[in-house]
Order: sequence, then structure tokens, then C-alpha cells
Amino acid sequence: MTLIFLIYGLFIGSFLNVCIFRIPSGISIVKPPSSCGSCGHRLNYMDMLPVINYITNKGKCRYCGSHYSIQYPLIELLNGLLYTLVYLKFGLTLNSILHSLIISLLITVSIIDLKHKIIPDGLNIAGGIVGIIYIIINKTFFNSIAGALTGLVLFLAIALLTNAMGGGDIKLMAALGLIFGIKGVLFISLFSFVIGAVISVILILLKIKGRKDEIPFGPFISLSALIYIFFGAEIINWYLALFI
Ligand SMILES: [Zn+2]
Repeated sequence: MTLIFLIYGLFIGSFLNVCIFRIPSGISIVKPPSSCGSCGHRLNYMDMLPVINYITNKGKCRYCGSHYSIQYPLIELLNGLLYTLVYLKFGLTLNSILHSLIISLLITVSIIDLKHKIIPDGLNIAGGIVGIIYIIINKTFFNSIAGALTGLVLFLAIALLTNAMGGGDIKLMAALGLIFGIKGVLFISLFSFVIGAVISVILILLKIKGRKDEIPFGPFISLSALIYIFFGAEIINWYLALFI
């Protein structure tokens, strides 16, 4: 079963590569089928798993020999490993499948935000749809609506006060609020600010970014949501135990 989650995760990861490449340019994510960016040769199922291609063909196109970016197998592998962790932690449940979907969404959001400094509406809508399915399965109606409103109001306020937050971040927090409820949204907000502050300071100290550079916030939100999915309950219990 672990292996099935890994392989399934790799295939979805390969699809995420397509989404990351096509969504910002407004190309359909289903048509046309994937082809080599260099020679245009249609890729078959084996070619579509860059991880396999990197092992068997050293990351080169089988038809023209041009090199594929290392980004493809890395994203695929990341998605496969996270799916495996979801299965190991949550077993074979409906929530495992929803968590997997959210994780793939967060990976796609992060990479597109890093590359293009936008979070496309389509991805936030997809997050909202997962949120609605989550509410139906877990019957968390009030907590979810409150979570979405908390995310929306909190990030809207920060956006208005600091001018450092985009509309995409606000919508993403609302979608995550639907899924993770009030506790989750507060956890993710707090962690995203702490992680964002630490990483921004490091980037500025290393002179990779200047003080006035815009640093995309989507990846910090995504990383925090991942921490919440895997360790949220443990971290909150540990924190509460400090006071008892
Ligand atoms: Zn080619």
C-alpha cells in the first residue's frame, strides 16, 4: 500500500509539473498531451515520469537528447514522498486522499508563486472545492466557515496594513481555513509569519534579496500548512502542556 501511494504520488507529481508550466501561461492542463519542449515529440507514459527518465536516460529526451530541468524529477519525487508520508501517518482514509490533494495543490501554488509571483485563482478555487468536500465528509460546517472568514479577514487586514500581501495569499488562506478550521488557520498564519520572517532575514543577509524586494508569501503559507497537516496536533498539544 505504501508503494501504491508512492507511485500514485509520482504520477500526480508529474501532472503537477504540467500544471506549473501551463497554468501561468493560460494553456489547458489536459490538451494537448505532454511533449518534449525541444523537439515536440509526444511523450509516452514512461517518458512522463521524469524520475524514471533521470535514472534510465540521465534526464535527456529520448528523441532529441536535449536536457530536462532537474525541477521535474524533484517536484515529482517531493509529491511522491509526501503522499507516502500521508499514508504512513493517516492510513487509507478519505482524509488521506484529501490531504494528498491539498499537498499537491500547495506544491503547485508554491512553485508558481516563486516563479511568477502570483497564485492563480484556479488553484485557490480548487482549494475551495477540496474544502467543501472536506466539510461534507467531516461535518465541520461552522468551524470551516469560521476558519475561512478568519483567514480572509486576518490576511486582508495584513494586506491593507503592510502592502506586502497579494490577493492570491488572502484567497489561499480562506481556502485553507475551510479545510483546517479556526485552529488550523491561526496555526498556519503564525507559522507562515515566523518562517517568512526568518527566511527573509536570511535571504537579505546573504544578499540574495534586497530590503525592498518582494518575497512571495505563498511558499511560507504552504510550508506552514504542511507542518500543520503532519505535526499540527502534536505541536499544539505540546504547547498547551507547557501551561498545565
Ligand atoms: Zn526532445
